[in-house]
Amino acid sequence: MGRLICLSNRLPLGPTPSGGLVVALADALAERGGVWIGSSGELSETPETRFTEIEGGPFRRLAFDLSPEEQASYYHGYSNSVLWPLFHGRTDLLDIRGEYLTGYKEVNRRLAKMLLEVLEPDDRIWVHDFHLLPLAHDLRVLGAENRMGFFLHTPFPTPLALQALPNGPELCTWLAHYELVGLQAERDVRNCMDAMVQIGGATELAGGFIHLAPRQVRIAAFPVAIDAAEFRTLAEEQVTQLPEGLVKPNRRLMIGVDRLDYTKGVPQRFRAFGEFLDRHEEWHRHVSLIQISPPTREGVTAYDDIRQETEHLSGQINGTFADITWAPIRFINRPVPREVLAGLYRAADIALVTPLMDGMNLVAKEFVAAQDPDDPGVLILSQFAGASEQLVDALTVNPHDPEQMATAMMTALAMPLSERRRRHAGMMQLLLKKDVHWWSKGFLTALG
Ligand code: ADP
Repeated sequence: MGRLICLSNRLPLGPTPSGGLVVALADALAERGGVWIGSSGELSETPETRFTEIEGGPFRRLAFDLSPEEQASYYHGYSNSVLWPLFHGRTDLLDIRGEYLTGYKEVNRRLAKMLLEVLEPDDRIWVHDFHLLPLAHDLRVLGAENRMGFFLHTPFPTPLALQALPNGPELCTWLAHYELVGLQAERDVRNCMDAMVQIGGATELAGGFIHLAPRQVRIAAFPVAIDAAEFRTLAEEQVTQLPEGLVKPNRRLMIGVDRLDYTKGVPQRFRAFGEFLDRHEEWHRHVSLIQISPPTREGVTAYDDIRQETEHLSGQINGTFADITWAPIRFINRPVPREVLAGLYRAADIALVTPLMDGMNLVAKEFVAAQDPDDPGVLILSQFAGASEQLVDALTVNPHDPEQMATAMMTALAMPLSERRRRHAGMMQLLLKKDVHWWSKGFLTALG
């Protein structure tokens, strides 16, 4: 069995919020003598032509730096201001510029050349996420014949949305150089198949394959997962460590945990919570919402806008409803250590996971895993999170509909224990079976 080479935009350098992925791949990498390649997070004026080995850790890690220009065009530009909004259905936020695409392609070509230097003929290559779409194409141009798989952590856009991208046909060609394209959900598989046919000019074959010369590509769903058993244990331990006074005997706790991203539907959630408070005076002082949202991608206009909007809305709702003993929303704009999050999830009665569009949404899975099975909380989950295809026992909502969400909040607060237990048991069983190890094994087996 050859080595496994994983590539992602950022090299995991320590305990990061995307820790789940590290856990998933650490075993496979250690077992197969694998390597993880990603950017160091450092900028350097003259980007190198060789990777730098990062010492320590359970598997080999190779890092590369970006130049400030590359960071602007490849990362902030094409990745975060074009592909991210496009893949989440926000074509109104697209910032299409020739120099972004040029920079994106140059970084990928540079990486392909650097990778070729360390590549062995029987290595398997697993490329992660939208920053590195052209990598297989670039490696094939250089003559690499290795088996290559790609996994997209975001949703895949509809063919109609992809028409908004001037180089949509080229994007389809990039994908056609992998043997396997993995997506989060069945809806993404359908979108990708349709886009490959309608925009890329591919032929759909039986069994989840398409043909786009010179290759047959398999397109399939591999819903990303968590280590549910480990997270359950962490939550059990940590719930006892929460600060005194956080959980009050006569007060229910709702929780939202999302990077402050416009895809996460935080303003819509706040408005729905305002609607709920407006309708249910009897719940005033008896329910509060903790929203934990560390800022990301600061400096990009759309992210500055979402910060202002959410600060304004939380202030407005608190202004309308708070009294001297109670503020309905506690809005926290910083990261919280994973173990504290685990304890908070377990202490919470309701999770509001209501993105407008999301590849999977791991917060939904973490919340379920963290619950006490004897007295579990209720998950309110957007129909637009990839997780909703799997977590069918959640209370599913349309995040655009504040009235329906307010009703779901009431339903959750009033839900009998027997129903909470039944719904939780169904979801937990799925999470334990289809955990992060199942996910990585499934992808690697399909890659061959
Ligand atoms: P995304 O990858 O788009 O941010 P996910 O819900 O799939 O969304 O994954 C987010 C991950 O980041 C989860 O593992 C979650 O626990 C973690 N996370 C989210 N918000 C915070 C926060 N405020 N502090 C620490 N970790 C967070």
